Amino acid sequence: MGQERRAPDGKERGAGVTEGKVFLVGAGPGDPGLITVRGKQLIEMADAVVYDALANSILLPPGARTTGRPELYYVGKRSGAKDTVTQDEINSLLVKLAREGKRVVRLKGGDPFVFGRGSEEAQAMNDASVPFEIVPGITAGIAAPAYAGIPVTHRGLSTSVTFVTGHEDPAKPTTQTNWAALAKSGGTIVLYMGVKTLSNVSAALIGGGMPGDIPAAAIQWATHPKQRTVVATLETLPAKAVEQNVSAPVITVIGWSIVLRDELNWFERRPLFGRRIVVTRAAQQAAELSERLRELGADVIEMPATQIARLDLAPLRTEIDRLSLYNWLIFTSKNAISIFWEQLLGAGKDARVLAGLNVAAVGPATAGALLEHGIAVDVIPTRFVAEGLIEMLQTRDDLGGAKVLYVTAEGARDVLPQALKDLGADVTRIETHRSIVDGEGAEKLVRAIEAGNVDLVTFTSASAVRGYVDAVGEDVALRVPAASIGPQTSDALREAGIEVKGQAEESTLDSLASAVVGAL
Ligand code: SAH
Repeated sequence: MGQERRAPDGKERGAGVTEGKVFLVGAGPGDPGLITVRGKQLIEMADAVVYDALANSILLPPGARTTGRPELYYVGKRSGAKDTVTQDEINSLLVKLAREGKRVVRLKGGDPFVFGRGSEEAQAMNDASVPFEIVPGITAGIAAPAYAGIPVTHRGLSTSVTFVTGHEDPAKPTTQTNWAALAKSGGTIVLYMGVKTLSNVSAALIGGGMPGDIPAAAIQWATHPKQRTVVATLETLPAKAVEQNVSAPVITVIGWSIVLRDELNWFERRPLFGRRIVVTRAAQQAAELSERLRELGADVIEMPATQIARLDLAPLRTEIDRLSLYNWLIFTSKNAISIFWEQLLGAGKDARVLAGLNVAAVGPATAGALLEHGIAVDVIPTRFVAEGLIEMLQTRDDLGGAKVLYVTAEGARDVLPQALKDLGADVTRIETHRSIVDGEGAEKLVRAIEAGNVDLVTFTSASAVRGYVDAVGEDVALRVPAASIGPQTSDALREAGIEVKGQAEESTLDSLASAVVGAL
C-alpha cells in the first residue's frame, strides 16, 4: 500500500537504451502461481506489458495502473464481441514500443505458441527486425485436465494426447482437421475453443468410429476459483454443456482416463472450493491468512480494514536503553515485537540484553514471533486471551514488586496491566503502533456483497471490525456473516450487529482457517 514497485535496479529504462525487445511470455491458464519464474521476472523488469483477456491481470505489477510503470496495454479479444484491437494493430503496437527502445512483455494466456497466434506475432517481429524471445507457459490443455483430476495419459488407458482447435468446424468443407483420423487415434483428445462447434465435433468423432460412450468433460475457467467441470459422454456432452450453461473459456477432454477423476479430483474437492471469503487484515499481514484459505480452495478477496502506523518510538528507545532495570517483558502482538526488535537492533543491541528477563506472550503467534528472534517465552497461557495470561501469572509468586515492561498496540485493553498491578507489579506501558482504517478495495467489495457473491468475512482484531464497518458502510456490513479469531473480536462483531458464524478455538491463523471451514 502506498509502496510502489520500482525496477530492481531503480534505473529509468527506455530512454538512452537503443535496442528494445519483445518477450512473448506465456502467462499460464489463470492461477497466478502457474506462470514461469522467467515470465514473472520479465514482467517485473518490463517497460511495457501488452496483455490479453485470458492472462490473469493479477500478474501485472502492483501499482502499475497508478504509476504508469510499466505501461499497460490491454488488447483482449473476446469471441462474440466485436474485436476492439485487430491482430495487425497488436503487431504494430509491439513493433512501435520495441522501436522506442522498450523491453516489452507480450503476456498471453497459457502458452504463446499453442493456439494463441504467438507465432504470428513472432513472425511480425522478425519481419520488422525487432529482437524477440519466447517464454513458454503452461497451456490450458494441460492445466485444465490436471486441475479437474484428469490425467491426459495413463498407463493402460491412454498413450497419446492430441491438442486440437474446435474453431475448425467439422461441418464446414474447409476444415483442416482430419476428425476421422483423430477418432481412430486411441488417445486423449483435448479440444480448445469449441463451445459452439461441440456438437459437430462430437458427431464427426462418432462418425469416424469413436465410441459414443467414451467419457467427455468440459472444464470452464480452469485453475480459477470459479472452475466448473461437467462430465458426460462424447455423445451426451454437447447437450449437457448447453443445459448447464457452459460458456467460454472451456477446455473439452475426451478419453477413457476421465474415469480417474473420481479418485484424482483434488482441486474441486477442497473444503472451501467455490466459496468467496474476505480477509480484512492489514495489507502487510494479509498474505499468510489468504494463502491458507486459498489452499483450502477459497476465492479470497483482500480488503485491508486496518493498516499499521508506528507511533513515536522515543519512549520505547528510552526503555530499551535501561532494560536491565526490568524483571519482566510482556508482548501482546507480533507487530509490537517487530517494532521492538527493529529498535533494539537500531540501538546496536541484540537478544543478549534480554538475558536476565522473564518474557511472556499472550498467544502462540506472539510466542512464535519471539522464537524467531531466538527467545523462548517463560510463560505462555493455555487460553489465548489476556485473561489466560493473567491466570498463569497469578499462579506465580515473583510478581510482587517486579518491574514489568508491557509493549503493546495503542488502544489495547487495559486488563493485563491492571491485573499485573493488582499482583503488586510496577508496570510501564509502551505503545508501539496503532491500527488505522484502510478502505482500499472497499468499493469492489461492496459491489461483490451487493451481488450476493461473498460467503464470509474474516476478522483478526476488533479494530479491523470497526475499520471494515467504516469502509463498507453499516448496512452492507450486516449482510455477510463473519468468522473471528477470538472472543474480543467476536464481541466487537456482535456489537456491530454482524453474525458470528465461527470463532477460532485458539487465536492462531490455522485455527481461524478451521473455524471458517467449520462455519461453511
Ligand atoms: N494460448 C492459450 C490458448 C489460447 S486459445 C493456451 O495455451 O492455453 C483460447 C482457448 O484456450 C479458450 O477458448 C479455451 O478453450 C482455452 N482456455 C484458456 N484458458 C482457459 C481456462 N482457464 N479454462 C478453460 N479453457 C481455457
